[in-house]
Amino acid sequence: MFLKLIPDGDKKQQLRVNRILQAIGSALLQSIVAVILFFAGGFRLSGIDFLALLASLWVGHIVFYLLIRTGFNRRFSDPSLTQAQVIWGIFCTLIILYFMADFRLLILPFLLLILIFGAFKMTTRQYITIAVLIVVGYFAVMGLVYSSHPETIRPKDEIIGALVFMLTILAFSLVGNEISRLRSKLRRRNAKLAETMQQVEQMASTDELTGLINRREMMLLLKRQKARSDRGKNGFSVCFFDIDHFKTVNDTFGHHIGDVVLKRFASETMKVIRDADLFARFGGEEFLLLAADSDLEGAAVVTERIRSTVADIDFSDVATGLSVTVSAGIARFRPKEEIRSILTRSDKALYLAKNSGRNCIRLESDI
Ligand code: GH3
Ligand code: MG
Ligand code: MG
Repeated sequence: MFLKLIPDGDKKQQLRVNRILQAIGSALLQSIVAVILFFAGGFRLSGIDFLALLASLWVGHIVFYLLIRTGFNRRFSDPSLTQAQVIWGIFCTLIILYFMADFRLLILPFLLLILIFGAFKMTTRQYITIAVLIVVGYFAVMGLVYSSHPETIRPKDEIIGALVFMLTILAFSLVGNEISRLRSKLRRRNAKLAETMQQVEQMASTDELTGLINRREMMLLLKRQKARSDRGKNGFSVCFFDIDHFKTVNDTFGHHIGDVVLKRFASETMKVIRDADLFARFGGEEFLLLAADSDLEGAAVVTERIRSTVADIDFSDVATGLSVTVSAGIARFRPKEEIRSILTRSDKALYLAKNSGRNCIRLESDI
């Protein structure tokens, strides 16, 4: 399980593992720098003590990796463990600094690296805390070294070094603040983008007039249903509806009333279908019902319910003398067939219903 460095699935967790691997990469570089400085005589430690120092730091790095890799990090309030990692990184660098006898300035860039690492994840406040911690830690360690090993301190070098280090920290803090600002801007933009995407998707799949799903979306859903039903289970039927003499409704009462009829037809139908069924506006005054888990007879029951509901809709509030009927044709899905062919059969059954006097339903078996 741990042989694979990056787990599959959970995107956030993958990002965290990526980050800890980057942190471990930095730790590796720091160890290499420390080894170089050790051989250059930069430490007041024996070879064994120096190795023990590095080994103990690595225990910490590996504990962090395992915490994240096993998912144990999810139990913490900040599962990314950023603050803890940052503090550990500072601690490691300061410990190395403490045991150094020379070249101290050369290990300091790692403190700046930690600040930049933090800038990508922390709030400005946390970031400032960390910057202060670094400065305080640095002076504390230098104070300790001064009291216990004053012979390794060259006052002029250390003072100039400390000054330059503080100014560099300040410069980095400005950069860090900018990164932090950009991050919040990006987060806001991403949120806006996600919201817009959702609206666009909604618009692309919905019929504006009736609020039903549109033809495009219904075709996608039919394909998905076909994939499930091709194996023989989850059979379904489709019912094609076409409002009768709709042209006459428009011609007699006006296009606006025609629109009202379409809307009311949609809303009244939605009230009488099952939750699992899907109902779409397929074209002008044509609608399609996907009756889930239904054979012809089952689909005929719901279709007949829709037909009679429509015939009973009261339009007296918008136009006097207006009543509307609908005809429908039903076909049942045959595993492996194309969506096109079940639609053709239901359309033929609809044609039969129209020819049988309208305001009725026909099954493909009637053809
Ligand atoms: P049939 O009983 O044979 O179905 O007759 P019909 O008049 O309903 O059939 P036809 O296909 O000739 O007429 C469909 C009409 O639907 C024509 C078109 O103007 C109208 N229509 C299509 N879309 C809309 C719409 O969004 N709003 C309105 N008001 N009318 C529409
Ligand atoms: Mg039509
Ligand atoms: Mg019609």
